[in-house]
Amino acid sequence: MEEVRLLDKNGLRVDGRRLEELRPLKLEVGILDKADGSAYIEHGKNKILAAVYGPREAQPRHIALADRAVLRCRYHMAPFSTEERKSPAPSRRELELSKVIREALEPSIMSEYFPRATIDIFIEVLQADAGTRCAGITAASLALADAGIPMRELVAGCAAGKVEGKVVLDLSDLEDKKGDADLPVAFMPKSNVIGLLQMDGSMTEDEFKQALDMAVDACRRIYEMQREALRQKYHLVKEESEAKEEAPAPEVKQ
Ligand code: ADP
Repeated sequence: MEEVRLLDKNGLRVDGRRLEELRPLKLEVGILDKADGSAYIEHGKNKILAAVYGPREAQPRHIALADRAVLRCRYHMAPFSTEERKSPAPSRRELELSKVIREALEPSIMSEYFPRATIDIFIEVLQADAGTRCAGITAASLALADAGIPMRELVAGCAAGKVEGKVVLDLSDLEDKKGDADLPVAFMPKSNVIGLLQMDGSMTEDEFKQALDMAVDACRRIYEMQREALRQKYHLVKEESEAKEEAPAPEVKQ
């Protein structure tokens, strides 16, 4: 089999990026009418929707907690999100990702304000190209904010890793599959909390430190983009309400 080269002679990656370069990101807040909060992310070729319901009364009642809300999370990849049709049934991987994503978001939510309630997070991957757990966290955190849920701060996610012996940021699918290691991270910049840290593959201690620093720095940049996406949403809401106020009163026909 022909060997796949992940770095060219100039040290650029298969998609032309430098080692520390993020894939292009697009964030939108409040795009679903029916959910209490929602967000959409394009992170490279990943396309992911996040929706939030709650806080609402816990059902079934026996799952309720007396001192805080229960946070539930479902990460799911659509059957058309990968090159080969993926079974729509939840896989072991999706169950694991639902759990680690919930744990990454939990420290950001002031769940103590809502005893006996539930907050439901749905992450639907429409198109997958590696780094979906991180992009899913970035979108879900925005959807939580859009639902008006009190939060300590936003959570941003980004992976770093290693390809052909070099530490790189934000691996694409090919780099994830053919590379040496992948290190997904979720981070809250103000409180300096890492809520997700996993590793697939192997790195030396120095490479690990370098990759972690790179991922944390990228999360800080993504955090600023999240804030901007929220500002955009509320700017639009303000413009719309001002336009309504300025509209002339309808004429009453005699
Ligand atoms: P992450 O998406 O968080 O990087 P993984 O490392 O498990 O999670 O997966 C890497 C990539 O592999 C995914 O983003 C997706 O592009 C691809 N992938 C994962 N599961 C499947 C699957 N069942 N079928 C096809 N591709 C998949």
